[in-house]
Amino acid sequence: MTDLPSTPDSLPIASLKGVGLQTLRRLEKLGLATVTDLLFHLPLRYEDRTRIAALGSLKAGDQALVEGRVELIEVLPKGRRSLVLRIGDGTGFLNLRFFHFTAEQRRQFERGRLLRAFGEIREGYYGLEITHPDYRLIAEDEAGRPEATLTPVYPLTEGIHQKALRRLVTQALAYADPEHLPDGLPISLPAASGRLRLWEALKLLHQPPAGCSEASPELAAARRRLAFEELLAHHLSLSRFRARMQTRRAPILHIDPTAAERFRQSLPFSLTAAQQRVIGEIEADLAAPRPMMRLVQGDVGSGKTVVAAFAALAALTSNHQVAVMAPTELLAEQHARSFRQWLDPLGVQVALLSGRAKGESRKSALAALSDGFAGVAVGTHALFQEQVAFHRLGLVVIDEQHRFGVHQRLALREKGARDGLYPHQLIMTATPIPRTLAMLGYADLDLSVIDERPPGRTPVNTVVVPTARRAEIVARIADWVGKGRQVYWVCTLIEESELLQAEAAEKTAQILAEALPGVRTALIHGRQKPADKEATMLAFKAGGIDLLVATTVIEVGVDVPNASLMVIENAERLGLAQLHQLRGRVGRGPGEAHCVLLYQPPLTQTARERLGILRDSDDGFVIAEKDLDIRGPGELLGTRQTGQVQFRVADLTRDRDLLDAVHGTAELMLRDYPERVELLIKRWVGNSAQYVQA
Ligand code: ADP
Ligand code: MG
Repeated sequence: MTDLPSTPDSLPIASLKGVGLQTLRRLEKLGLATVTDLLFHLPLRYEDRTRIAALGSLKAGDQALVEGRVELIEVLPKGRRSLVLRIGDGTGFLNLRFFHFTAEQRRQFERGRLLRAFGEIREGYYGLEITHPDYRLIAEDEAGRPEATLTPVYPLTEGIHQKALRRLVTQALAYADPEHLPDGLPISLPAASGRLRLWEALKLLHQPPAGCSEASPELAAARRRLAFEELLAHHLSLSRFRARMQTRRAPILHIDPTAAERFRQSLPFSLTAAQQRVIGEIEADLAAPRPMMRLVQGDVGSGKTVVAAFAALAALTSNHQVAVMAPTELLAEQHARSFRQWLDPLGVQVALLSGRAKGESRKSALAALSDGFAGVAVGTHALFQEQVAFHRLGLVVIDEQHRFGVHQRLALREKGARDGLYPHQLIMTATPIPRTLAMLGYADLDLSVIDERPPGRTPVNTVVVPTARRAEIVARIADWVGKGRQVYWVCTLIEESELLQAEAAEKTAQILAEALPGVRTALIHGRQKPADKEATMLAFKAGGIDLLVATTVIEVGVDVPNASLMVIENAERLGLAQLHQLRGRVGRGPGEAHCVLLYQPPLTQTARERLGILRDSDDGFVIAEKDLDIRGPGELLGTRQTGQVQFRVADLTRDRDLLDAVHGTAELMLRDYPERVELLIKRWVGNSAQYVQA
């Protein structure tokens, strides 16, 4: 043992025996580079090979480990050619059938040889059999001695066999002792009390003793022990990042009171109390010489854009530029329009950098930004991917941040830095994040909540309707349009393919246009040219289109207050967060608003419950909490929704209740155990932490 290096955390898998280059590369695809990574690669389930079943006791459907002597070897040419071995153990016999076999394999099997096999017992033509068993010829002295521990079944990638992975993990487990694998969680902390040590948990999970099962409480405890450490590591990584950012300098931005007042006066509405409060919080941040890192969370329609405009005004009146990043072209264009409308009177130039801006117009936009003529740049993430140079960037606004990854967001921090000054960051999201989860994914941010909607909004009346009543709904569109209101029809497909989505939407648009001759119908989807999309959106906003058939491209941010009826097809296939976002496109103006969730029967019990939640509430926060209860936070904190880290062990459904303790423990560790903090982050967050390195 003493010749083992001090920690497997930095030991490459290549140092283990019997790993080829190809295997290494494939393991890398699974995210496995170090021996510790291998130890954290937990089994999906287990096979029980700890008991040898008597052949006479087998039943079809059993998974069993059997042992016996070869009694008969036959190649059966009838039907599909196969090699059949019959083994017996005195209590009965069993056939082992191989459809694929080599001559060499066949030669191995001699009558009288002892053989051990594992697999599922099935009813065969000649009696019970296992097809393609996991088998091994064994020596006489091995007889009657099954495995001492359960056999792990690992998540795999193509080209790596269970057996190979098991061998590697078994080697890796040599390091699972307190000397080589120190706990990231100091055992003196309250959170560690009553919990297993890290190495114990790992040993238990990779090789549970006979008698255990997947659901055994000791295995559950071991998983939770690891999950705790993993959650802690992620939390610490963001907290440390936050601490580092707070040592950075940022330009001091003061909003000019006269300009602010003029802007306020120019708005066709007065700000809600919540908006004013959040604007105040932002102003205080901007006036400090540290980079602001603030997340503004406000439900769809709560009026986040205008809040961002006030922040922009602070930068502009302090002689700094602003970058506004939106997740879609459609939204970037809409933001450019809003900001132009608001800022033109103040003499501020707004540059739009979207896919549409090419050639000369793009060149002049870039020049305006680097010279400082343009005060605001609006665009998609391309704003930061390309060589966009700012003259004096003071503030970065990221809208609908859940569409960007955590790492993308963090990487952005470094981009605008100049002369040792970092731009402030304002991040906006409509995704309601329960506080406990927010602590984890956004531990580096301060949080402001716009918890109030502009007055005069009535809740969207939501109904859940089977597709059989589609004709009725279509007829309702005509009535609605007759009243001078506008309608969205959203076509959804589970496929992420834009092409298929576009095709489905095209077909629907055609059918609807034919069914509704008096209704001006248009189509918008992701595969259209940006210019066409923008023209359609503008026409819809101006009231020149009554019915807009769309894919989910309109999910985020689109703001057309007169559109007040939305039909969503195949609603049962979408996540609640996404449905809530979509529905947020209506109910943005005065007067009643409706949302029809069309579904394809039959609905599962969960689907019924979920659509019910949406029908009964239009509070994003309530929806998120309830959704979490019935299906877990996968959707909420899934990669698509938040670009969150994928956890190796932690499962936020199962481990949600650990988060409070994680938070408390993180604070203690930052104060008292800085070297453990490093260890934990390196071990669990590893490479992805480099984005977070300040
Ligand atoms: P979101 O928070 O979803 O981004 P928006 O910023 O798009 O919301 O605002 C939704 C709509 O509400 C816009 O048409 C906006 O002009 C309007 N709005 C914003 N604030 C107020 C307010 N205080 N009173 C009335 N309407 C408002
Ligand atoms: Mg918005």
